[in-house]
Amino acid sequence: MPELPEVETIRLDLLPHVVGRRFTGVEIMPGAEKVVALPSLEEFRRALPGLRIEGIERRGKYLLFPLADGRYLIVHLRMTGALIHRRVGAPAESYLRVRLPLDDKTELRYTDLRKLGMMWLVVDPTLVVGKLGPDALEALQPTTLRSVLDGRRAPVKAVLMDQTRLVGLGNIYADEALFLAGVRPTRPAGSLTADEVERLHGAIGEVLRDAMGHRGSSFSDYVDGEGREGMHQLHVKVYRRSGEPCHVCGTAIERIRLGGRSGHFCPHCQK
Ligand SMILES: [Zn+2]
Repeated sequence: MPELPEVETIRLDLLPHVVGRRFTGVEIMPGAEKVVALPSLEEFRRALPGLRIEGIERRGKYLLFPLADGRYLIVHLRMTGALIHRRVGAPAESYLRVRLPLDDKTELRYTDLRKLGMMWLVVDPTLVVGKLGPDALEALQPTTLRSVLDGRRAPVKAVLMDQTRLVGLGNIYADEALFLAGVRPTRPAGSLTADEVERLHGAIGEVLRDAMGHRGSSFSDYVDGEGREGMHQLHVKVYRRSGEPCHVCGTAIERIRLGGRSGHFCPHCQK
């Protein structure tokens, strides 16, 4: 699933290619009609052509394309979605669901194995995006993190992944940040000491920046805005490494179940 570094990588990839371009059409492949959540399919097809893309913004894992008429095209990639910029006529990707041709013989292609991703064309993006917690990549302060964790008995990993409290940490980067901070994923969030919160704060920033530096993690379907895989999966310290030796101390990485998801940690380095 694309997490925050992946979505931000796609945003930065697409930015130079699509800003200032106009949509010239909408092609939705048979069976992919449900990708368009709002408005109706007919209205989406009618309204988008002719509109110029004014920028690309990111709110959490939503990509927002402000358009010249004041509306926003919003895309959420969910589990297996990708947004790729291609020349018109370039070979079609597997699971190509939507083509949005632009006025320079290129197009935005939306591909999605599981068809869980969504698009909206709306005036007010908050109707779609809702109220999001602070963004893990944008100037997260130690005090903000403290207030996210304080008083909570739930496992720290679950709290870190709760998108209403903190936006942008999923399974991969929560595991990695907790390893770097030396904190076990099962610890009650409110039990972290001031030092641990400080370390965790630094670790979140470091992990997300590292992942961006490697253009995201491609454990399954993720590709960037030009259809290439990321490289960060080769650099993870604990995620999906259960049974393999910790890079720091050599102890075997363990895997636990945690609220329906798995967590990976080093039983020696993480307290
Ligand atoms: Zn270790």
